[in-house]
Amino acid sequence: MPISQCAAMLNIRPFRLPTIPPLHGKVNVLSALATRGVAVALVIVALMAATPARALTILRDAGIEYGLTQLSAPILRAAGLNPNRVKVLVIDDSSFNAFVVDRSTIFVHSGLIEKAGDGSVLQAVIAHEAAHITNGHITRRGVNMRSAQTVAGLGIALGIIAGVAGAGEAAGGLAIGVQNSALRSFLSHTRAEESAADSSAANYLQSAGLGAQGLVALHETFRGQEVLSAGRQDPYTRSHPLTRDRMRAAQAYVAANGAGAGPSDADRYWFARVDGVLTAFSRSPDWTLRRAAEEPWPDIRAMREAIAYHRNRDLSNSVAAIDRAIALRPDDPFYRDLKGQFLIESRQWQPALAAYGEAVNLAPDDALILGNYGRALLAVDRYKDAQQAMEKSLQRDARNARVLRALSLAYAETGQTGMAALVTAERFALAGRLEDAELHASRAIALLPRGSAGARRAEDIVDAAKQDKKRKSR
Ligand SMILES: [Zn+2]
Repeated sequence: MPISQCAAMLNIRPFRLPTIPPLHGKVNVLSALATRGVAVALVIVALMAATPARALTILRDAGIEYGLTQLSAPILRAAGLNPNRVKVLVIDDSSFNAFVVDRSTIFVHSGLIEKAGDGSVLQAVIAHEAAHITNGHITRRGVNMRSAQTVAGLGIALGIIAGVAGAGEAAGGLAIGVQNSALRSFLSHTRAEESAADSSAANYLQSAGLGAQGLVALHETFRGQEVLSAGRQDPYTRSHPLTRDRMRAAQAYVAANGAGAGPSDADRYWFARVDGVLTAFSRSPDWTLRRAAEEPWPDIRAMREAIAYHRNRDLSNSVAAIDRAIALRPDDPFYRDLKGQFLIESRQWQPALAAYGEAVNLAPDDALILGNYGRALLAVDRYKDAQQAMEKSLQRDARNARVLRALSLAYAETGQTGMAALVTAERFALAGRLEDAELHASRAIALLPRGSAGARRAEDIVDAAKQDKKRKSR
């Protein structure tokens, strides 16, 4: 298929087994985004509308995101960035790639983590991408972006959808079409920018106490790539030309400054854990069960086995294994979150609620865990409690569509039909389905008190839908 016809679709889902029925079957959306932000995003979604051919999926998992925060925080701080403001999110893609589209998110392909083999390479990639943020390469792109209609606002669009979860269940409804070629040109940097980013990355790694050896290892990993034809290269190689000069520069930096300490014990643990979750969900359960035996950390081994059993629909063994991991790390909320996932996907509502409740007690501010807890409350018909937990979750991460979908059900069950219509409208809007969005938003406006915050959000959607129609008719 010619590239021009091949559009990429971005959607987001947490790990789940595709054939296990979703908690509830309804569709729904986002709230609590700054109203103007929503309106901007909606316009962009409309601009991006394209025939979807390929899905890019963002994986949301509380344990993975915590691990990536642990691995990236010292580097981001060294770069002068706030680790609470810059999130590292994983895209479900087996190729080796990473990119930034705005100042708040570094996207890393799952394939990069699996191929990195070592926390130091991933940390070098994070340092390099952080350098694109701090060196102003995104600002420059922002200017270029405005000149190209097809990529206009892509950064904002990706930023918005970065937090959206649950697309897998929504049969593709929650997705943003992005032209592949537009995405590629948008993500490319000049060679000068690449060299500058490497040089900053080396400094960040050095001042974080890690040393720049990971940067050398990164270039070594891909030395062979340059001789491959473009079609066989990893996308990272195409968007990040790995010249010999860059390799030499990294080696010279290490020669002058020393190799550094490399990843800490904690870094190695969290890298193994993130990699362990990713591979356990992406590889066959047999592969995972074989490899888990070589896992040096006993709790990670138990976790990998638990996921493999879960994927084999073996609930008793998966629960037994995750309980072993919990026994080894009783204060770890993420193992309890995983246990909740196994149980809820096996329709064990009450035990799932108990597991998520324990996870919330250990991590009361984790948006993903709070959202899962809310969904479990919904499953046992505790609508008001569910609403409270999910609203709290959305205050922390407003872009979690799975939670928004569940929240609309909670609203509907408690007679808050205006709010239910509003979040449904927002969900459709995010999916680029502005006609559907407008329909539900108009309904919300009729149901919600005039001038209320909810009504204003609904009006923004109607405005965005109208603008989109005007644009299309031109
Ligand atoms: Zn780069």
